Amino acid sequence: MSEVVLDMLPEIYRQWLPEVFWRPAIPERKATCDSCAMCLPEGAQLSKEQADRQGFFQPDLKCCTFQPSIPNYLIGGLLSDERPLFAEGQRRVKDYIALRIGVHPQWVRPSNKQLLLLQASQQSSFGRSSQLLCPFFQTPQNNCSIWKFRDSDCSFFFCKHEAGEDGRTLWKRMQTWMWTLETKLSYHLAKSVCPSFSWALEGKKKKVTRLAIHVLEERPMPDDEYSKIWGEWAGKEEAFYRACYDAACALTKQDFDNIMQEELDETLPQLAHLYNKVTSPTLPQFLIPHPELTIQQMNDELSLFVAYSRYDPVLLPKEVEDLIQAFSAEETVQETLQRLYDEQEIEVEEAFLIGLHQLRILIEPT
Ligand code: SF4
Ligand code: SF4
Repeated sequence: MSEVVLDMLPEIYRQWLPEVFWRPAIPERKATCDSCAMCLPEGAQLSKEQADRQGFFQPDLKCCTFQPSIPNYLIGGLLSDERPLFAEGQRRVKDYIALRIGVHPQWVRPSNKQLLLLQASQQSSFGRSSQLLCPFFQTPQNNCSIWKFRDSDCSFFFCKHEAGEDGRTLWKRMQTWMWTLETKLSYHLAKSVCPSFSWALEGKKKKVTRLAIHVLEERPMPDDEYSKIWGEWAGKEEAFYRACYDAACALTKQDFDNIMQEELDETLPQLAHLYNKVTSPTLPQFLIPHPELTIQQMNDELSLFVAYSRYDPVLLPKEVEDLIQAFSAEETVQETLQRLYDEQEIEVEEAFLIGLHQLRILIEPT
């Protein structure tokens, strides 16, 4: 159970991360990963085709139909950990490294072919196709074999958010902040372990437009290209990653701040603001119905509302559809509430309206 935000991340960060990461954790109880909230409920009878069409994920895939780029020091931490719990993850990472596909001194990452596949098929196949499955996902447990060493993409991903769009935005910004950290830190560590490396910094995110033939055919990188990247460490990659982890463990808070510098500090107030927005939400002065809201009547009492995310539809009393039409940019929320009470004796709790706004069923006019 996470007590502070930092508990969601690998332990190595405890020594360095700033105040906002030490704030109380924000539980995302709607993302029930052990019994995945995106999968068909137990006992439901649907064919795979029907389940796909209705947007359900497969329980033996879940949201791990994605392969992260894991920075060198986390790979090294995993390989150095002697607890039996990590034996399977270590075996998988070693097998992956031996393939020499997506293996770089800064990262262990997906091949460009895998990246292209994901970019092109995310909409149709995320959660649904084994072609996208992460190599570190294990069955029959249906969970992650490297959990304690997973990267920020995995740490901060949730399919559903208690605070709706505000929650999603917070975790996305935290991810972006961590991408910079992972990129700068992995580059610094690679260079400190091997100062003669001559390649330029490899960013966390890549836009792929072309594939080399060995990538297309899923063959290892040609020896000469591989040696150019790895230099004296070619063939000793596991030892290299472990050395990066040792170098990371030796960094002081001051070293860390020097590596990250002002670029990260500039975005910290924004993270703090987003955190406050999730934990202490307020009611906007004006609200209007989301113009692209989808509403599907389920029965005589309930309708399904889809607004900020297709992964987080919400069942609400069907009267909510009429209620939200009462809000417009012509009068303040408080005036609308008063009018609803005066004309129809309808009382609406502020907390309920805040919830509708977080789900972006009601939005602020631009
Ligand atoms: S975050 Fe992933 S594993 Fe967890 S409930 Fe959502 S889809 Fe399932
Ligand atoms: S690293 Fe783990 S959590 Fe992340 S996608 Fe792979 S199996 Fe899932």
